Amino acid sequence: MKLIVELVPSTVWYSSLYRLLPSEVWSKLREGIIAENGRRCQICGATLGKMNLHECWNYDDQNYIQKLVGFNLLCTMCHHVKHIGFARILSDQGKLDYADVMAHFCKVNGCSEAVFTKHVDEAFVIWHKRSQYQWSQDFGEYNICFKK
Ligand SMILES: [Zn+2]
Repeated sequence: MKLIVELVPSTVWYSSLYRLLPSEVWSKLREGIIAENGRRCQICGATLGKMNLHECWNYDDQNYIQKLVGFNLLCTMCHHVKHIGFARILSDQGKLDYADVMAHFCKVNGCSEAVFTKHVDEAFVIWHKRSQYQWSQDFGEYNICFKK
C-alpha cells in the first residue's frame, strides 16, 4: 500500500520535531524539502492545496525507541490518513468529512472500504500496545538541536 496509517503512541504525542523546533527552523526545513522535491504530495502526487511536512518514524518495539527516519511532504488528505485518530476527532467536530478521508485512502491504494477499515483497526491495535510504553526518542541528525 502506498498510503498507510501511522499512529504516534500517545506517550510521545507532544514531543515531535515540529513542536520542539522553533517555527522558523521548521519552515526552513519545509522549504528545503519543497525546493528539493517540488511542491507536490510525495504519496499521491497532488499539487493543489496546503502541503504538510510529515515526520516519518521508525519504531523499535523491543527497546522502545522512536527514531526519526525522514520527512514527507503530504497533501492534507494523505496527512489526515496518517493521523486517522485526529481525523476522526475533526470529523466528530464537523470540521472534516471522514468519508472523504476514507475515499482518498481507497483511491490512492486502489482498494475497497473494507480494506481501509481493516487497516485502520490493525493500526489502532498497534497504537494501543505502543501507547502503554514510554519511548526514547532519536531525532537522528536533529538530536543536536536538543543537546545542551
Ligand atoms: Zn497526497
